[in-house]
Amino acid sequence: MVHESEAIEALKRALRRLPGIGPKAAQRIAFHLLGRDRAAARDIARALEQAVARVGHCQVCNNFSETEMCTICASPRRATGLLCVVESPADLVSLEQSGAFSGTYFVLMGRLSPLEGIGPEQIGIPRLENLLEGGAVREVILATNATVEGEATAHYISEIAHRRGLLATRIAYGVPVGGELEYIDRGTLAKAFSGRREA
Ligand SMILES: [Zn+2]
Repeated sequence: MVHESEAIEALKRALRRLPGIGPKAAQRIAFHLLGRDRAAARDIARALEQAVARVGHCQVCNNFSETEMCTICASPRRATGLLCVVESPADLVSLEQSGAFSGTYFVLMGRLSPLEGIGPEQIGIPRLENLLEGGAVREVILATNATVEGEATAHYISEIAHRRGLLATRIAYGVPVGGELEYIDRGTLAKAFSGRREA
């Protein structure tokens, strides 16, 4: 058995906690940073420290934010009657880049997944209900992914909207079922938005 530095082992263990990083990739990254790019290693460490210390969640939409209210929620130019529900901050970024939407968002930070123990509480449903309670929202646009769990989450939220007499719509994916919003191109995303149907 190869005997390695405890610090290198700790670094590899830490890297393996990243999504999609297995033992080989963790080792490659660790050796690269230590062997060839220590400046990058220090930059990454510093950026991580700062992001973890500064970034919290917007008290309104739940997206990442350094302030209590994010810039989208605080903007007077956003249409407050339209609320778009997405699974992740990455999905929000994709929609913003498509330019298809000028309303406000709610970011679930996940999707319902009973098998993984992720229920309504874990995806911020009580906060979403508070937001709907406010009375400004007229239409809830369900932009969760076209996966089984994404569809189940959309259905669950549409029932909440219906109980409050609000219109719920589902974006029309021009992609096969299983498509994840983050990877859909801007044009398709804009079409999916304009072609949304009542849910
Ligand atoms: Zn916000």
